Amino acid sequence: MNWNNPLAKRVLDLKPSPTLAVDAKAKALKAKGEDIVNLSAGEPDFDTPDHIKEAAISAIRDGFTKYTAVAGIVELREAIGKKLKRDYKIEYSIDEIVVSTGGKQGLFNCLQAIVDPGTEVIIPVPYWVSYPAMVELSGGKPVYLKTTQENGFAIDISKLESLITKKTRAIILNSPSNPTGAVYNEETLKGVAELAINKGFYIITDDIYDEIRFDGRSPENVLSFVPEAKEHVIIANGVSKTYSMTGWRIGYLAGPQPVIKAATKIQSQSTSNPNSIAQKAALAALTGPQDCVKEMVAAFKERRKFIVERLNAIDGIRCNMPEGAFYCFPNMSSFYGKSFNGKKIEGSLELADYLLEEAKIACVPGIAFGDDEFIRFSYATDIKVIEKGLDRLESALSRLE
Ligand SMILES: *Cc1c(COP(=O)(O)O)cnc(C)c1O
Repeated sequence: MNWNNPLAKRVLDLKPSPTLAVDAKAKALKAKGEDIVNLSAGEPDFDTPDHIKEAAISAIRDGFTKYTAVAGIVELREAIGKKLKRDYKIEYSIDEIVVSTGGKQGLFNCLQAIVDPGTEVIIPVPYWVSYPAMVELSGGKPVYLKTTQENGFAIDISKLESLITKKTRAIILNSPSNPTGAVYNEETLKGVAELAINKGFYIITDDIYDEIRFDGRSPENVLSFVPEAKEHVIIANGVSKTYSMTGWRIGYLAGPQPVIKAATKIQSQSTSNPNSIAQKAALAALTGPQDCVKEMVAAFKERRKFIVERLNAIDGIRCNMPEGAFYCFPNMSSFYGKSFNGKKIEGSLELADYLLEEAKIACVPGIAFGDDEFIRFSYATDIKVIEKGLDRLESALSRLE
């Protein structure tokens, strides 16, 4: 081998997760004693509910500390099946469900299972940061479908149709969306499903925020409106966001049996079963009381109103009202071209850097999600912290000239 070039091309081409990079920079500044207002968090600020923790402690005490079935314990897959039946009115048997080490691993395995080198996966923009990298790692090519703030980041079905080729393997939907908070409506989902059935491709629906929506409706995805698309739909979900369990690493896929079998095979040769103790905790989360979810959603709803109203009150910011998740995604492009101390702000990266350096606010530049006009602010933090951040933001923006 060429010893001067010791890494695989695959990894040289891979970009590190930009959201984790911002987080690392903010944490480093904080460690140095800086008073950073962190509005970049990608996880709920609540503690994991006690009854879930207790289930994990019992699992340890009971010696539930060995390998489990690669696809996860049967009780957990049954509980997931029940949730999917309750929310989406679709039956999934346990061999149509695989539990993974986080929703992220589920998505990764799913793409490895269905994407061949040279095939294409359509990704609506703005997108969750990991989709393009995951598609590329599978050898596939991301094909970007731009959406606009004016249309509430909805998918234009005729535009989608124009991107479909013989190489199209899948489209990835994420509703409620990280970063925009947008929820796809019935018409959009029906349009996508009709194309998937007629042209023959998969819909990967990343439902990780399905319970965190503010219109009082229960979770919805494409199967809520087009159940006959089941053979085309792969659901990716998990307990991280709904139950404030990001560190436990439990997610799952549900879909056509051949896809689930293939994803399980990949898992069997890479990580094997997800953590046995965390599986018991996830089981308690799905089958236990759900008040914790309602309380969290109510808190997010209050903060959402506060942050979006404050943002829109600032001259030059335009922010849609998010319908779910815990992010808002304001258009800040009117500040591009302005300067501070002779340094020009060219785009979202420079603006986020300016806000971190000068206002001590951590946020994520829109470019990380494929749209440079925006900045993502997370409101998964205390309302007092949000207020302090918005005060600083207002003052820092007014100093630009
Ligand atoms: C957080 C998140 C996930 C998965 O999170 P895990 O912690 O791996 O379960 C998947 N998709 C989106 C859009 C997310 O924001």
